Amino acid sequence: MAGNTYNTIIIGGGIAGLTSAAYLSRAGQKVLLIEKNKECGGLVNSFTRDGFHFDAGVRALEDAGIIFAMLKDLNIQLEVVKSPVSVGIENEILHIEGIESLIKYQELLIKLFPESEGEIVEVIRIIRKIMKHMDVLYGIENPVFKDLKRDRAFIFKKLLPWLPKFIFTVGKINRMNMPVEDYLKTIIKNPSLRDMISQHFFKNTPTFFALSYFSLYLDYFYPKGGVGKLSDALKNKILELGGEIKTEIKIVEVLADKCHVIDQNNTSYKYDNLIWAADLKTFYKITEAEVFMPKIKSKFKETKDKMLQNRGGDSVFSLFLEVDEPLDSFRKIANGHFFYTPSKSGLGETHRKKLDELLSNFEKVNKEQLMTWLDKFTKLNTYEISIPGLKDPELVPRGKTGMIISLLAEYDLFKKIHKAGWLDEFTSEMENHIINVISDSIYPGLKENIIIRFSFTPLNIENRVGSSEGAIVGWSFQKSMPVINKIQISDRSVLTPIPSIYQAGQWAYSPAGVPMSILTGKLAADKILIKIKKQHLRTR
Ligand SMILES: Cc1cc2nc3c(=O)[nH]c(=O)nc-3n(C[C@H](O)[C@H](O)[C@H](O)COP(=O)(O)OP(=O)(O)OC[C@H]3O[C@@H](n4cnc5c(N)ncnc54)[C@H](O)[C@@H]3O)c2cc1C
Repeated sequence: MAGNTYNTIIIGGGIAGLTSAAYLSRAGQKVLLIEKNKECGGLVNSFTRDGFHFDAGVRALEDAGIIFAMLKDLNIQLEVVKSPVSVGIENEILHIEGIESLIKYQELLIKLFPESEGEIVEVIRIIRKIMKHMDVLYGIENPVFKDLKRDRAFIFKKLLPWLPKFIFTVGKINRMNMPVEDYLKTIIKNPSLRDMISQHFFKNTPTFFALSYFSLYLDYFYPKGGVGKLSDALKNKILELGGEIKTEIKIVEVLADKCHVIDQNNTSYKYDNLIWAADLKTFYKITEAEVFMPKIKSKFKETKDKMLQNRGGDSVFSLFLEVDEPLDSFRKIANGHFFYTPSKSGLGETHRKKLDELLSNFEKVNKEQLMTWLDKFTKLNTYEISIPGLKDPELVPRGKTGMIISLLAEYDLFKKIHKAGWLDEFTSEMENHIINVISDSIYPGLKENIIIRFSFTPLNIENRVGSSEGAIVGWSFQKSMPVINKIQISDRSVLTPIPSIYQAGQWAYSPAGVPMSILTGKLAADKILIKIKKQHLRTR
């Protein structure tokens, strides 16, 4: 059954799809945004349970010169607060207040690893250099969100003086593409110290991206009411601008030659342009492009093969706790966004080589072996702990605290255990281990005060947002990246081999995250608007 024709249909109501839809609606396009879940937001989403507020995906937002520029450009008011970060290793806790905290971070590391003082000073010197590059990179509002025809002051006072610095910085960044694990080996001998700096990054994270973390800590902010408020604000803007949103509709087929998408009920929607703002492996699996010209057909096939060979990056295991303790007892210890490592020993090969061995031999591995591994994995890891109530006290019932404790987790482990039929048992054990580790270290007594606990595994992420391998920031960092990964050509990242189809979001550009998803959402909308303008000029 075919319905109306839309100028643009956008598949995926995550932050990228919402951005595209808002901009195209503002330009007066007939827009339809299709989202498979009941709520939009994807990995930028929040929910409430028993009066406790939790963030299901990203825990706080980094501006990166993009989010506030987008909000201003779309005239969206969003009440936000700073989201200060603490970093802790064993009993040493540092509350990051500004660039000067970098010296305190250096002192913290030297206290724990006095024999490596010289190496620590060198790493901090490099982090400081990277922070300077980050100041340039994010130093002005991203020009993509400015009206360059009208805003002359921006062009002459900000953009033109910034451009040479930007070009110089991009050159520097591109030279720091080596995986951070390998880069740190060239400076630091002690593997435990290397782990303290890098074990909470995704495997093979490019050095520049990883070592810019101190700048990102300073950039974090939190929308009042939860990160999901950003998605809500965009959704409301789309509706205000006349865009249409359909939720609980899953697209299961793309007939590219006919410009149709088909949903789970076999309803068909016709488009002039399509933006795919969801998992790209899914797109290439469900798209029919057989009848195009040979050049497009072969480019489509080549791209499809590349996409399907690649994997999504690391996933995450998140434990949600409703705790019968007031916020004050947590405030005394750390900020509401806290990166905590209970042991300075470091994970070593626990999360990589040891786990790979277990997984490649999974049929012969018994539960006891896996539990021994789990014990080490949870004791030696780095946790991202988020306490929404410390950022916005309205988000918890009075006298109580909600916590989200997460760590990077391997999708294949959960997949295999699920297949073997004991996922619930494993998940519950993992929850127990995490609670024990955290109660025995940084939050004593936590265990006794938990009212309710539940968790999301990589499989939940895969099911909820359709993300391949439960990935949370798109592609895994491998040698042959199937999408653009150079900032100076980021505008090309939204193109697909099919002229009427564009891509946006965390799968369209790497490295990704919320700001890049928003940026690609805007770039895809811009490409369509430019194309339409050219078509109008030609037909005049
Ligand atoms: C725990 C966690 C921590 C994170 N921390 C950070 C951080 O500190 N900094 C940072 O920048 N980023 C972080 N991220 C990553 C960031 O949240 C994501 O990269 C970003 O939100 C991706 O947005 P997106 O719109 O590209 O994709 P998604 O949010 O995945 O949106 C895709 C949407 O498409 C829908 N969809 C999928 N398939 C279909 C279909 N067939 N039909 C219709 N709809 C479909 C999905 O339901 C989903 O709503 C984190 C993520 C998580 C989970």
